[in-house]
Amino acid sequence: MADICIWNRCNNNCIMCTNPVTFRDKNDSLLYSKEAVISRLESHKAKYLAARENINLTGGEPTIHPNFLALVKEVRNMFPDNKIVMATNGRMFSYPLFAKQCLAMNNLSIEIAIHGPNSKLHDAITRVKGSFEQTVEGVHNILKYRNSSQELELRVIIIKPNQKYVSDTLNFIKKEFPSVDRVILVFMEMEGFAEKNFKAVGLRYSDFRPQLSQFKKWAEGLPELRLYHFPLCVLPPEIWPYAWRTLRGSEVTFLKSCRSCLYKKYCLGIHKDYLKLVGGKEFKPIKEKFEIKKRDFFHNPIIGIKK
Ligand code: SF4
Repeated sequence: MADICIWNRCNNNCIMCTNPVTFRDKNDSLLYSKEAVISRLESHKAKYLAARENINLTGGEPTIHPNFLALVKEVRNMFPDNKIVMATNGRMFSYPLFAKQCLAMNNLSIEIAIHGPNSKLHDAITRVKGSFEQTVEGVHNILKYRNSSQELELRVIIIKPNQKYVSDTLNFIKKEFPSVDRVILVFMEMEGFAEKNFKAVGLRYSDFRPQLSQFKKWAEGLPELRLYHFPLCVLPPEIWPYAWRTLRGSEVTFLKSCRSCLYKKYCLGIHKDYLKLVGGKEFKPIKEKFEIKKRDFFHNPIIGIKK
């Protein structure tokens, strides 16, 4: 996947944003003009075309780029057959005209974060009053105007303030957006504002583990539920098939003790920033033997498990 940051500013101000604290400097926005972004893409064009890589537009908030629609149109012309992925807070899609214009392009995947089941929790995390209402309206508009070549994925980033409300958040999603394509539970990364606000947002895997006993119930009624950023030893084995490896190799590492773990070859590893801020005590090599049904797919290698 080609990650292309197209804008350094955001209309939210999330307490666990992983962008560097100085990232939003207005003067740096010049680096993200339409021409500058296109020229960055040009330099990798042949590679991205040959591999049909997804073109992942990120930010900041990509949809508030001053030339967003023109920029995406140009990206589509450059890469007619690549999927364009947008990681967005979804607020701009609350404007029906914007949603319709954006969804005039085929082969899109839109990823939107929902931080809680209501405005009280969501807005406390984004630190922008009214953001929940706009995000919810944006998701409704996408579901209303999209065609079959366009996917919608909702993400819940799990941090200290919302970890106890994951059930409520998933119930809200099931009720409000039953036709969403998938939901991802993402364990927080501890960099940028997440590191700066560690006391308020920092979460240990062991603190979240009790919630995971409800996982099978969470998955009921959703077309797909995935877990991102979880090493296998912090998960009950019966939910390993839901664990995906999506972090870059340079972001994760293994402990010396991992060498004796029977499932290391299927494991994501541990985020280096987690080890720096929390430590490695929770990660214990797994010695119990399970019958694993596997597939030849790095990102989600385990598809079944029997004790
Ligand atoms: S012990 Fe290491 S290799 Fe085994 S599951 Fe935990 S983090 Fe992964």
